[in-house]
Amino acid sequence: MKLSFKIFLGICIPAIAVILIISSIVIDKNHQTNLEAERLAVVQNVKDVERNIKSVKEDVSVEIVELMSNSYEKKDIYVAYYDDENTLYSNIGNTGLGQEDIGAIEYNKYVADVKEHNSNFYVVVSTKLDDGKVLTIIKNINSVFETRKELINNCIYIVVISIIIIGILAYIISKTLTRPLEKMKKEMNKLSKGDYDIHLKEGHDEFGKLAKNFNSMSKELEARNNELIESANNKQLFIDNLSHEMNTPLTSIQGYAELMEKANLDEERKSKYLRYIQDESKRIQDMYKKLLLLSYKKNSDFEKSEVNMSQVFTEIGNTLEDRLKKAKIELIINNQLNSLYGDETLIIMSISNLIKNAINVSAPKSKIIVNAFEMNNHKYIQVVDQGPGISKEDIKKITEPFYRVDKVRSRKNGGAGLGLSICKSIMEMHNGDLKIESELGKGSIFILEFPV
Ligand code: ADP
Repeated sequence: MKLSFKIFLGICIPAIAVILIISSIVIDKNHQTNLEAERLAVVQNVKDVERNIKSVKEDVSVEIVELMSNSYEKKDIYVAYYDDENTLYSNIGNTGLGQEDIGAIEYNKYVADVKEHNSNFYVVVSTKLDDGKVLTIIKNINSVFETRKELINNCIYIVVISIIIIGILAYIISKTLTRPLEKMKKEMNKLSKGDYDIHLKEGHDEFGKLAKNFNSMSKELEARNNELIESANNKQLFIDNLSHEMNTPLTSIQGYAELMEKANLDEERKSKYLRYIQDESKRIQDMYKKLLLLSYKKNSDFEKSEVNMSQVFTEIGNTLEDRLKKAKIELIINNQLNSLYGDETLIIMSISNLIKNAINVSAPKSKIIVNAFEMNNHKYIQVVDQGPGISKEDIKKITEPFYRVDKVRSRKNGGAGLGLSICKSIMEMHNGDLKIESELGKGSIFILEFPV
């Protein structure tokens, strides 16, 4: 059964029951009051006749009764006056009631009774006078019962109208109360079909609060769903890029190997092709090592210790000396850090990576400056170059695996677009961060931020 129908019945049934009970109580009370009034009126009639009988001599008492009865008869009131043996006066025969219908009679008491005869209703009041004679007065009270009938008819009329009004009100109330639930049901259906665009009206009542929770739940679900989609897309992108990056050097190796097998080559060409094969194999090996390092992060069971930074920079300087000379670039290192807490190999790898990238993009005779310092509870290593800079869009994507800004140049330099994503992973392993500040045409600053 629908909730709105339950609410509808929940309002209608008790309301109608209350109206019916109140109506019947009112009708009954009114009827009893009218009956009582009629009883009292007839008792009063009996008392009046009794008083008149007592006020005259005994031999004219019957005439008095008859006289009064004549005036009563016009009002549908009938009198009987009798003793044990004779009926002294009676016109109660007009009512169809006989003396046998008269109930118990007591001395100086007025016993009132309601009798029905041939669908007529009467109040019968009798009393036994001091001399043993009985005085009975019967009054037709059909009007009282007709009043009750009329009242019942009116009540039926009122109850029917009330039921219609209550029904309409109950319908409006049930619809108003269940409207937010209906809306919620519709939105739930939308949500189950993957539509997260849900804006339920919020408020301070129970439905309003429920709507608020529902809105935030749908937002949360949307965010989670987007995350899942993004993660799936990233994985797919990673696989696509990886297969592309692996395929390129493998195709080259296969091509050069086939050339060496088929053609009659002189020694110079042979050694040139062999060098190409070696370079491409190295590229694959390099990529394999880097990918291994990226996955290593997930099993981040690496050794941390206090790393001596002047040793680190000396080692980096020595390793990159040839490259720097070849590119005619000056490397300036301003080191103010004694040590850094972390994995030495990984720290060297990330700094070298940044400097190598800077060398790749820098023009001959330019400078690369490395600043290492401590500030605001963090240790920083900045690599500043005077290269072409990076656009805002590229900065957002530059740390994604296989992403390269200048694809041709990067590949020529042996890069697969993995260097910065490895740097980022290394920084995450150290609870630090990789930050990039750059603007096209104004060089770049790559910052490794370590917590102290
Ligand atoms: P790769 O190993 O190919 O160099 P990286 O992840 O280290 O890959 O760098 C991604 C790309 O970011 C590079 O291909 C290059 O185009 C760009 N990039 C890196 N460092 C700089 C820099 N200092 N200035 C300008 N572009 C840079």
